[in-house]
Amino acid sequence: MESEAKMIDESGLRIDGRRVDELRPIRIEAGVLKRADGSAYVEWGKNKVLAAVYGPRECHPRHLQNPAKALVQCKYNMIAFSVTDRKRPGPDRRSVEISKIISEALEYVVFTENFPRTSIDVYIEILQANAGTRCAGLTAASVALADAGIPMKDMVPSVAVGKINDQVVLDLCKEEDNYGQADLPVAILPRTGEVLLMQMDGHMTIDEFNRAVEYGVGACEKIYALQKDALRRRYAIEEAEPIDEEPRRERAEMEG
Ligand code: ADP
Repeated sequence: MESEAKMIDESGLRIDGRRVDELRPIRIEAGVLKRADGSAYVEWGKNKVLAAVYGPRECHPRHLQNPAKALVQCKYNMIAFSVTDRKRPGPDRRSVEISKIISEALEYVVFTENFPRTSIDVYIEILQANAGTRCAGLTAASVALADAGIPMKDMVPSVAVGKINDQVVLDLCKEEDNYGQADLPVAILPRTGEVLLMQMDGHMTIDEFNRAVEYGVGACEKIYALQKDALRRRYAIEEAEPIDEEPRRERAEMEG
């Protein structure tokens, strides 16, 4: 990682005009897909992420079934046009790693013991990538799980903190990620302070690390509020719809 490029100006503003402890604009929508049991769409700066959840459903292949609990199986995928150069489609080392860490974070919050032998499948599609996609993906996935009505302890907000020009900064964008000195994605539950994800790329001093975690905790609280708001909006709309069962019944008959 290089650090020569000056990415914070005299007044402490970053290349996109943010302060060091400022998030990019985040928009979360729940229930955006009709076929999936639960879904969510997240726009996070220039990131665009779609998450869909199916299940709990019978786990295949069957030898993976756990008689004591459900399996949370996440597939993180960057689509071919999500980055500047066409990304070669299909799994690679990076997406296998990200799928694993997101599965583990989600498995911690879902009451998996309620659904033995099943699989809860979580699909994360990165439509447009601009750094921090694992965090945006995890944030979207937990909203999609809640939208699917899957019992869980809590939703999981996630954000990356980093270091550029020897300063700790919240929520790196692509340029900062490329030239920055460190990248620390975290997922911290606001209610309990539990850490469900923490990775570190690069170097930080202990003081910098402590400040980064402090920024991460504050940002996770904000993201958590946005997640809850997305779910509230999703279900408020349904409640406000006039209750007319006739067309719904006709539609159900047509769809079989
Ligand atoms: P995250 O997206 O969680 O920050 P990484 O640190 O691995 O994960 O990647 C940082 C950013 O690098 C991604 O968000 C994306 O913008 C970019 N990137 C990752 N893989 C590719 C790729 N194959 N081609 C081009 N850009 C990529």
